[in-house]
Formats: sequence, structure tokens, C-alpha cells
Amino acid sequence: MSTYVQDLMAEVKAKNPAEPEFYQAVQEVAESLSLVLERHPEYRAAKILERIIEPERIITFRVPWVDEQGETHINRGYRIEMNSAIGPYKGGLRFHPSVNQGILKFLAFEQVFKNSLTTLPMGGGKGGSDFDPKGKSDLKVMRFCQAFMAELFRHIGPDTDVPAGDIGVGGREIGYLFGMYKKLRNEFTGVLTGKGLNWGGSLIRPEATGYGAVYFAAEMLGTRKQTLEGKTCLVSGSGNVAQFTVEKINQLGGKAVTLSDSNGYIYDEAGITKEKLAFVMDLKNVRRGRIKEYAEKYKGVVYKEIDPKADANPLWDHKATCAFPSATQNEINGKDAQNLLRNGIYCVAEGANMPTTLDGVKVFLDAGILYGPGKAANAGGVATSGLEMAQNSMRLPWTREEVDNRLRMIMTEIHTTCVIVAERFGTPGNYVNGANIGGFLKVADAMMDQGVV
Ligand code: NDP
Repeated sequence: MSTYVQDLMAEVKAKNPAEPEFYQAVQEVAESLSLVLERHPEYRAAKILERIIEPERIITFRVPWVDEQGETHINRGYRIEMNSAIGPYKGGLRFHPSVNQGILKFLAFEQVFKNSLTTLPMGGGKGGSDFDPKGKSDLKVMRFCQAFMAELFRHIGPDTDVPAGDIGVGGREIGYLFGMYKKLRNEFTGVLTGKGLNWGGSLIRPEATGYGAVYFAAEMLGTRKQTLEGKTCLVSGSGNVAQFTVEKINQLGGKAVTLSDSNGYIYDEAGITKEKLAFVMDLKNVRRGRIKEYAEKYKGVVYKEIDPKADANPLWDHKATCAFPSATQNEINGKDAQNLLRNGIYCVAEGANMPTTLDGVKVFLDAGILYGPGKAANAGGVATSGLEMAQNSMRLPWTREEVDNRLRMIMTEIHTTCVIVAERFGTPGNYVNGANIGGFLKVADAMMDQGVV
């Protein structure tokens, strides 16, 4: 680690106590950027990185709500407005009991670079709550979403800050949030993305993050003149990103053999076919059940509980070629990364945000495998949110083919940017540097142009 990064990290830790995920995200970016700051002392003199790591605004608020039994609950709501140099704040809302300021700051920080990479005019933000929608009735979820929006509405807007979904926030939650925003503001605008198709949503938005991650993997494999055809893939998670990752893997001729939730994972050597995926979608999106049921339904499938305290996750210990971590942050540690390599994996495309620890990233980079970090590989979701914003502004929906073609083009462009930038800065094949530096440059130049604000 250079002295500059060491000093920066010491300051970040002193100023932001108890935010380990945020330190991790900043350290990874700062290490890449030391290559840029050496060549561009003007960024360093203007303290661009120091300004990027300080959120423009953090909003924290109380979310009190009453359930159908008359019991009062109090959750905490957040919106981190990280950077608006290149467009309105944009980034998802996460509802999960683990949510805290540090986790949302890491996500908002990553989002700044990711959004810049998409080539669309979007700044970075993230928000959410420690509310847990898992196992809750629709009425409870609606009441919570309404109470959450009763405060958030005054801070967001189609030209100010445009939230979307993330863990625990899917079509149902976006619907309730949008309904409340519309009522409070008395206006129908594109203030959220991931909306329902008949009320301003874009075709392909639900699919976009998963499809995009697979398109990114296909681009990486293309640099070695390979395709996904016939390749076995490990996928974690079983939510939005994981489901559409499996769908696209199938469409491109690959075979996905794993899925998980926070209790355990399934290993289906025969492959998660279109029919089995339809079962998973019904299980997770309609019945809201656990992945264990997959193993009860299909023969020859192994289900294993995951012990979060174990030193490795057995999901990453199966023979395959590609891995698509699509559940949550830090789900691949150094040991998991080594297990993946030992099992023959040489292509990792991150659907989740920061699913690999710094140790794990080092293992992948040292091995020289095709490693696509989340801020590049999962940018298809926010890119398609950007396309939803464009369609809302024009009040004109595009066809499925049009949105999918644009998504594919954007993923190709992000891949090309990563490759070219990594080479330009002397680290060919390093997608981490490519994504961090590629995302940084556009934001840094915009901040230089706009003065110290
Ligand atoms: P969902 O809520 O739809 O699904 C999340 C999945 O991950 C569930 O299967 C969930 O299991 C599992 N999971 C969540 N937390 C944990 C945990 N602590 N340990 C083990 N498993 C866990 O979320 P998404 O699919 O939308 O998001 C998944 C990842 O992708 C996140 O990192 C998110 O930030 C990232 N992402 C999402 C985008 C989007 O468009 N939705 C865009 C870009 C990135 P369980 O049901 O048991 O909690």
C-alpha cells in the first residue's frame, strides 16, 4: 500500500468509526487510483478523492409504523446522497436487518463509479432501512413502505435523487413506495425505477442486473475466444439478480448448478433448467419460501445449510468454470477464492456488490483470472434504470428488444472501457483497476469543472 493510501485510510477510519465495509470499498478504489494520482497531480491538489469519499449529504430518519395487530414498530431510514457531479443521485434502497450507515455508504460509494461507467448521466446514492420484509404480510410491508416514504419524499425527485430496488426491495415494495410518493406530491413522475410495466416501468429492468452480469462474463470470455456454451456456473443468492443470471446463462448455453439463500444452498448437478427456474421464481417471488424446497421438489439435488461462522462457504467448492456471486457483500473470502481456483474456475462476474473480500480479490488478481468486479459487472441494473428514466422523461416506452440491445451495448462498452483503461495504466487484464479508474475519471473531471462545491 502506498503512503498516500495508508494516510488516506488512517483518516477514513478516524473519521468514520465502525464502518468496515466502507473502509474496504474505499481502500480498493484508492489503491487503483494511486496509479492515476501519480500521473494527474491536479486531481490530488484539488483533493478530488478526499471529496468523493465524503457524502454530499446523509439523511437519517425515524420510521414509525403500526401493524395489523395494532403494535407499533420503529425502524431507521437512510438515504446517502454521495455524489451528484454527473447527474441526479441514483441508487437502490435496501431493506435488511443488517442495514446500517456504513453498509449504505459503501454501496453509495461504489455506485458513484458504477453509474459513471454506464455512460449515462447519473450521480451516486443509496438508501434503505433495517426493516426486514422477509416473512412479513403484504399489509405490514405496505404500512412500512408508506411510513418510510412519508419522510423520504421530501428529499427525492426525478431531477434530484431517483431510488430503485436492492436486497429486500423488489416490485412489491417499489409499488407501495411509488404509490405513497404520488399521493404526497400529487404528481406522477419517474421518481423511482423498477416500476411496474403498466405504470412507467421499463421492460427488461427486472432482468437487467442478472442479464448484464452474464453479458459481462461473455465479454470477458470473448477476450480468450470463448463463450458460455457448455460452461458450468456457480450462482449464489436466489433473488432478483440470481434468478435472471440463471435465465441468461441458460439462454447462452451454459449450465447453472447452484442457488442459495441466507439459510443454505442447493447443488443440482443436472442443471437449473428453465422449468426449475420457473419453480424458483414462484417460490421466491410469489410464495416467498426458502430455497430448501427446491431440493425437496427435485430428485438428485443436494441441500446444505450454510454456517455463516465457518471459514469457507461450501457453495464455492464445486467444479465449474464460471462463478456469479449474486447474494450479498463479502460472501467470497480468501479461502473461498482459493477453493474456486482449485475447482477450475477462471471467470468470476459479480452480480452482487462487493461480494469478494480484499483477500479474495487479491487471490483472483494474482491468479490472472477473468475477474469482473461488481461495479462493472452488475452495472446493467442501474444502466437500465437510466433507460427507464429516459423513457419516463419522453413518456414513451421502448420495446423489449430495444432495451435489451441497449443493455447489451452498454455492458460491451463498460467492458471495453475496463480493458482499455487497465492497459493505459499499465495493468492489462486487471478489471478492478479498469473499473475504478474508468469510473473515476469522468466524475473527477466533472468535479474539476464545477469548482469546490
Ligand atoms: P434480493 O433481495 O432479491 O435477493 C437477495 C438474495 O441474497 C436472497 O436470496 C437472500 O436470501 C440472499 N442474501 C441476502 N443477504 C444475505 C446474507 N447476509 N447471507 C446470505 N444470503 C443473503 O436482492 P437482489 O437480488 O436485488 O440483490 C442481490 C445483490 O445484488 C446485492 O448485493 C445487491 O446490492 C446487488 N445488486 C442488485 C441490483 C438490482 O438491480 N437488484 C443491482 C446491482 C447490484 P434471503 O432471502 O434468505 O435473505
